[in-house]
Amino acid sequence: MPVKDCKNVWILAEVQHGKLSPTAYELLHAGRKLADDLEEKLCAVVLGNHVGKYARDLIEHGADVVYVCESDQLENYVDDTYAKVLTDLVQTYHPNKLLIPATNCGRALSAKTAVFVGTGLTADATQVQINKADGQLYATRPTFGGNLMATITCAKTRPEMCSLRPMAYDKAPLQKGRKGEIVKFPFTKGKHASLAKFLEFIKSKEEGLDLSEVTVIVAGGRGVGKKEGFHLLHQLAQRLGGAVGASRGPVDSGWIDYRYQIGLTGRTVKPKLYIACGISGQIQHMAGVSGADVIVAINKDPNAPIMKMAHYAVEGDMYEVIPAMLEALS
Ligand SMILES: Cc1cc2nc3c(=O)[nH]c(=O)nc-3n(C[C@H](O)[C@H](O)[C@H](O)COP(=O)(O)OP(=O)(O)OC[C@H]3O[C@@H](n4cnc5c(N)ncnc54)[C@H](O)[C@@H]3O)c2cc1C
Repeated sequence: MPVKDCKNVWILAEVQHGKLSPTAYELLHAGRKLADDLEEKLCAVVLGNHVGKYARDLIEHGADVVYVCESDQLENYVDDTYAKVLTDLVQTYHPNKLLIPATNCGRALSAKTAVFVGTGLTADATQVQINKADGQLYATRPTFGGNLMATITCAKTRPEMCSLRPMAYDKAPLQKGRKGEIVKFPFTKGKHASLAKFLEFIKSKEEGLDLSEVTVIVAGGRGVGKKEGFHLLHQLAQRLGGAVGASRGPVDSGWIDYRYQIGLTGRTVKPKLYIACGISGQIQHMAGVSGADVIVAINKDPNAPIMKMAHYAVEGDMYEVIPAMLEALS
């Protein structure tokens, strides 16, 4: 299909374990701006079993069209099946841009779909915009271990695909009563089914809540000093109904798993309250927390950079300050 004949901005509204993922609203926010700049429609794709119920909600958050493909074969995420359906949709309707959340499943799905379709993909972008001169998608992401920000384009093939980091964008606002079109897309067993089968989902046994699910994050840095020190952070996080995060220092030291790392080469978070314990506030860490509403820093060194960036700076040893906080809270 010639590039000029591909129209509209698509987003994949991911469904995880039967629930619409919050990334759907973030992608609608990012996609709405792209679609408006191009004067094209914003379309959402939702795949799964009994997922048509989400179509209205997606329209009320900015989608003009929602493509729904429902089947018991899509009940659980399987790369191959999902990529075949998404490829079929792309080859039927010829979108111009396609955004997919850079979640675990989204990263796999975007790569496989890009290969099936034969187009380019910018993985794990943190920002997307339209170059007004030629309508191309400019997707920006950290590269070379976070030392550079690269803006990547895909000039010759469509759709220009991009997986977008969760929490890189705010959620699109609700516009009650907004109207749009719902298009049902059939699941075709012969064409879409895969040899791969879903057997079982095994939830991680790691302590605590996921960083994307909470409004309070208690993060530890190299100042925590030892693996066991994170138990204290877990206690505070639990008391506040939040989750534990970390800077790169403790991850590199093996005190906590990489999936808790916040920053340029870790995750981007947007909590209401971010309590940084024994974190100096280097730019690569702060890049992941700039969306936090309130930052509290607990640090022994009053001259640590974070003490100037935080809304509230507590000078002291975290092993004295956190127990005092726990006591006050109880
Ligand atoms: C390309 C690249 C990408 C990177 N990506 C990331 C990233 O994604 N995320 C990230 O976090 N970093 C990242 N980094 C590393 C970053 O530059 C810093 O090295 C790192 O953030 C420092 O971690 P920290 O603040 O925990 O440790 P430090 O800088 O060592 O700071 C420890 C702090 O703890 C304080 N302290 C010590 N003991 C106590 C105590 N008992 N109580 C209270 N305070 C105490 C100290 O005063 C100090 O301020 C990256 C670096 C590079 C080069």
